[in-house]
Amino acid sequence: MDSRFSVYVRVRPMIKEDVVLFKKISQSPEVCTKCHEDSTHLYLVKPYFDDREFVFDRVISPEISQPEVFDLVGRNVVDEVINGYNGTMIAYGQTGTGKTYTVFGSRSAIDYYGEGYHEEGGVVPRSIHRIFEFINENIEEAQFQVTISFMQIYMETITDLLSNKPQPKGGLQIREDPKTGIFVGGLTQKIIQNEQELMYIIQEAARTRSTGSTSMNKNSSRSHAVLQIFLEQRWIEEGPPKKRRVKRGLLTIVDLAGSERLSKSGSEGLRLNEAKNINKSISALGNCVAALSSDNANLSHVPFRDSKLTRLLTDSLGGNSKTTLYACVGPSLLNYDETYSTLLFATRAM
Ligand code: ADP
Ligand code: MG
Repeated sequence: MDSRFSVYVRVRPMIKEDVVLFKKISQSPEVCTKCHEDSTHLYLVKPYFDDREFVFDRVISPEISQPEVFDLVGRNVVDEVINGYNGTMIAYGQTGTGKTYTVFGSRSAIDYYGEGYHEEGGVVPRSIHRIFEFINENIEEAQFQVTISFMQIYMETITDLLSNKPQPKGGLQIREDPKTGIFVGGLTQKIIQNEQELMYIIQEAARTRSTGSTSMNKNSSRSHAVLQIFLEQRWIEEGPPKKRRVKRGLLTIVDLAGSERLSKSGSEGLRLNEAKNINKSISALGNCVAALSSDNANLSHVPFRDSKLTRLLTDSLGGNSKTTLYACVGPSLLNYDETYSTLLFATRAM
C-alpha cells in the first residue's frame, strides 16, 4: 500500500482506573476489543450485539511494548526525516487511552533523567535517540543542525512551551511566508547540541504541560501539543565539480486533545466552549485526513484553513510527507461507544 497515511490502532491494557469503574457498578471487568492475531483486524464486541470488524495497517495489541511499537511503526517515520522528507506522527483518542503514553511515555518515563531513555519512553525519546545516533555515525561526512519547537493549542490559542516569557494575549499567530511556507510568529526555535539536552528540554516542557500549575497548562487533556524537530544536513559532494548539498527533514509529533464528545464531559460554560473548540480542530483534522487519503486527493480542496491545528499542519500533512496516525483506544466495555467513534475516525484515514 502506497498511501501517504499509515493508520495504526493501539489498544492499551486494562488499567486499575477501568477496574474501579466496573466496581462502582458492581460488575466484573469486561473487554470490548479483540485483536486478531493477523495484527490487522480488530473486533469490537459487546454482549447481545453483532461484532463490528475493522481493518487497519496494523493493530497494536495490549501486550506490545514501547520499544516494539517504535520498531514496528515509528522508526520508519524517523528514517523518512533522516532522508530529507517530512514525517508526522499524530496520537488520537479519548482521554485516558494512551496518547501521551505512546508519544512521550509513562509518567515515570517523563520524569526520568539519566543516561539514554526510560524503557517506558514513547516514540519521542526513541526518535530523538535515533536522530542523534544517525548524526554520530555520520559526523565525519556532514554538518548537522537540529532545531526544535514545541507548542500547545488550547481553545484555538497557540502558546510556546519552550518560552517562560509572558505570552501575547490571544496567543501566537500563524503566518505564511511565500518561500518557506507556514510558520508561527515568535515561536522559539531552539538549536540543540545533543540528545541529552533535547531530552531534558522536552521532558521539562511535557512535565509543565501535564502537571500544569499555571492556568494555561491546567488542561493538558483539553489541548493539543505539537512538537517539531527539524534536521538539516549539509555536505560537499566531491567533484569535479564539487557541489554543496543540503537535506532538510521535519519530524512533527502531535499529542491531540481528548476526542471525547460533549455529552460525556457534562459540559457547560468554559467546558462547553473548550469542547466546541476541540471538536472543531479534531473534526477539521478528520476532514483534511479524509480528503488527503482519497485516491484523487486534490490539495487545493483540503480544508486546512478550518482550524489552527490543521493550518499549522498544512506542510506536515500535505506535500512530500508521510503521516502516521496512532488511534488509541481502551479495552473496557464501558468505553465501547468512544472506542467505536475512534475506530470510525481512524477508518476515514485509511
Ligand atoms: P491520554 O494521553 O490518552 O489521556 P495516557 O497516556 O495518560 O492517556 O494513559 C492513561 C493511563 O494509561 C496512564 O496511566 C498510562 O500510563 C496508562 N497506559 C496507557 N497506555 C498504556 C500501555 N500501552 N501499557 C500500560 N499502560 C498504559
Ligand atoms: Mg494525555
